[in-house]
Amino acid sequence: MNFCSKCGSARIEKKIPEGDTLPRYICQDCGEIHYSNPNVVTGVLPINDANEILLCRRSIEPRSGFWTLPAGFLENGESIEQGALRETREEAKLEVNDVKLFTVISVPKINQVYSFFIGEIANTDFGPTPESSEVKLFHVDNIPWDELAFRTVKLTIEQYLKHGRNSFFNRVLDH
Ligand code: ZN
Repeated sequence: MNFCSKCGSARIEKKIPEGDTLPRYICQDCGEIHYSNPNVVTGVLPINDANEILLCRRSIEPRSGFWTLPAGFLENGESIEQGALRETREEAKLEVNDVKLFTVISVPKINQVYSFFIGEIANTDFGPTPESSEVKLFHVDNIPWDELAFRTVKLTIEQYLKHGRNSFFNRVLDH
């Protein structure tokens, strides 16, 4: 951090505030303590009765061109479920029913927490968006494993194939 986002000062010092346990960036002019906390990524594993999973081909970095589940950063003021449904609409023009929390994956190395809900595909007019160049159904026997964008996505799909829609896992990815 180079400048205080509150007052613009460049006099930022990293130290442990009184009563705290971790070092923080503290503005030496206005006294503002700048906390940095993990981001939450929230998304959906969309499935249907034909044993298919909906994936989006990313058209933005990181991992442009690779397949992913619809997901994105949680916004202020929304629940993780609302965020997951919003991202699914934004990235795939898709609605889902019977939504249930399915995986929670902490990735402390990059300061992110992923949450995926599982849900039944509710409409057939899903399709590409500015964030996804392609939106497609893949049969579970035909998942493009080598072209998946993220390990969290791979783990979530594997969980579904191995343990079904009524399972759940909470895991830490530490490497
Ligand atoms: Zn300041």
